[in-house]
Amino acid sequence: MTDLQREALRKRMEEVEAKIAAACARAGRPRADVTLIAVSKSVSAEIASYLPELGVLELGESRPQELWHKAAIVPKTVHWHLIGHLQRNKIERTLPLVSMIHSVDSARLLSALEEEAAKQGRTISVLLEVNVSREEQKHGFAPDELLELAERVAVLKNVVVNGLMTMAALGEDAEKSRGAFAELRRLRDQLSRQIMPPHDMNHLSMGMSGDFEVAIEEGATFVRIGSVLFETLSAES
Ligand SMILES: *Cc1c(COP(=O)(O)O)cnc(C)c1O
Repeated sequence: MTDLQREALRKRMEEVEAKIAAACARAGRPRADVTLIAVSKSVSAEIASYLPELGVLELGESRPQELWHKAAIVPKTVHWHLIGHLQRNKIERTLPLVSMIHSVDSARLLSALEEEAAKQGRTISVLLEVNVSREEQKHGFAPDELLELAERVAVLKNVVVNGLMTMAALGEDAEKSRGAFAELRRLRDQLSRQIMPPHDMNHLSMGMSGDFEVAIEEGATFVRIGSVLFETLSAES
């Protein structure tokens, strides 16, 4: 990694941090309510390895294989978040590497995770992915499906559900995501009346490069940011 790349990344981080802080202030929320996850899928393990020096310890990957690869190289101080679809045959190898799975998108996956987590003698924190925009090609529970999950969640012992995740429809206009984020928050409020400890609905993982400020205004506790941090970074060398 060149000095120019380091400098560029440090500057991008500062810009993103300032925007997160401003969005929190607008929403009357403490900055500590929101955790930035740097989504490293577009950069090398070498660049990802520089993030801890910038104070970023929460890293996200959407593909399990890419997460396996980077987790072997990036300093062990980071916590990995899987934010993309997890196939059941990749659970065994992924589980020991991650601190949270944001993308649990079926009841079958919940059961398979429960079984493997028990086998590995650990608990795993997960979020339920919701297809709020009801797009055919997207993973995630439909909103009405989600409201029938409480009983299935109640029997989980090694999987702890801590909230919801969504991806808003892609577009240039961040305001277009606001409705989806607000709906995720309403679903969370509804579900939190049915979910009992150790499970809770404390987290909302929503907001990416194009719409994270709106997501924070609507209650995001995790924002997943890739391109505004890393785009064209390789051109800085
Ligand atoms: C890639 C990805 C992100 C980051 O998107 P950017 O627009 O690059 O910030 C966030 N969440 C998920 C699930 C992703 O796959």
